[in-house]
Amino acid sequence: MAQNYPVQVEMEQGKELFLSGVNPVGTEKVCLEEALGRVLAEDIQARENIPPFDRSPLDGYALRSSDIAGASREEPVTLSVMEEVPAGAVAQKPVEAGEAVRIMTGAPVPAGADAVVRYEDTTFTEETVTLSWPVVSGSNIVLAGEDVRAGDVVVEKGDELNAARIGVLAALGYPEVLVYKRPLVRIISTGDELVDVSGELTPGKIRNSSAYMIRAFLQSWGLDARIYGIVKDEKQEIRRAIEECMEDADCVFTTGGVSVGDFDFVLPSMEEAGAEILFWKTQMKPGMATIGARKGRILLAGLSGNPSAAAAALFVLCLPALRKLCGRREWELPMIQVMLPEGYGKASPGGRILPGRLRIQDGKPCFITQKHQANGMISPWSSCNLVAVVPRGSGALEKGTMVHAYYLP
Ligand code: AMP
Ligand code: MG
Repeated sequence: MAQNYPVQVEMEQGKELFLSGVNPVGTEKVCLEEALGRVLAEDIQARENIPPFDRSPLDGYALRSSDIAGASREEPVTLSVMEEVPAGAVAQKPVEAGEAVRIMTGAPVPAGADAVVRYEDTTFTEETVTLSWPVVSGSNIVLAGEDVRAGDVVVEKGDELNAARIGVLAALGYPEVLVYKRPLVRIISTGDELVDVSGELTPGKIRNSSAYMIRAFLQSWGLDARIYGIVKDEKQEIRRAIEECMEDADCVFTTGGVSVGDFDFVLPSMEEAGAEILFWKTQMKPGMATIGARKGRILLAGLSGNPSAAAAALFVLCLPALRKLCGRREWELPMIQVMLPEGYGKASPGGRILPGRLRIQDGKPCFITQKHQANGMISPWSSCNLVAVVPRGSGALEKGTMVHAYYLP
């Protein structure tokens, strides 16, 4: 088949090609208890005020500030306590001149009152309260709509629902919300050398670690990722597996077999399964051997079998597209600038992805690389919370160089 796709793309180009044409896969309703981490598929406009009424933020007395305008230690003012309003109740009648109401935290401020004075600032009996200084109108009153005003858009389409947003939705009376469906990703592991995690390591075999790592990354990003299993390095078997996965998946990820070795069959298998190849190979390291492809609305990624290369490609090439597929309106992950206190010895002609750890040194965010680090090693990723992107064309990086990194909290 004639090659009609870009090869050895820059990381930016690979990312953009993979992103192009990606759209969320549909919507569904979920109840609030199931909504954590889901991406909202509708704008939520407040139908009510939070709080719904002017309320007292403390236990005290609701009164008319004009009544105590002249109060002082020498000439305190005593008001008649008419009633008590606990949270959940309302006052029987408005507060008139010379009157006060005993009020509890969370209770509505009665009509007529324009200030609340806390118990500690008064002296009181069952029937009276005495004030020794004035207060300004509006003191200790949380106004209706102060937190959220009816009509405000409080959570936007494309926002991930975190705990506080779920709290806001509950406060506004939404027992369920419309969210984007979790995209289904199937992960195929290719390689004659692979045995599953619990398998026996006979000579020449290794365990299929990549599939579990990729699945977990994808799950943590909100996708429904499922392991298909291990497929031999045989073109027809790989093609069959890809076709089977495409029957219901929104994304198909493969690992292994994407280089130019004698047993690297993923690219022709994807083509034979009818996928359009978006790019093959990138300039970045690790992750040079990566395929981006698409069939209709199904995204396909051929990742290296090498776990660190697969992780690098996932973060830099695939993650924005996956976030967009999940419906997020901000699909690019923010990057932070960090300093390399030790420098980095190798040049990065095509760009480089480095896993590392954030450490604050002398008040500055620093990027700490693992001492023990080489292509193909997965352990440096295990304590990683930063993924640095060293730009293409960089030489060795001196101590103190600033680099951009994705922060993974
Ligand atoms: P490949 O991409 O097939 O050239 O494989 C690159 C390296 O990754 C080889 O050393 C493979 O043995 C190893 N490898 C391939 N698949 C996996 C996997 N699923 N888990 C861990 N290592 C793998
Ligand atoms: Mg292989």
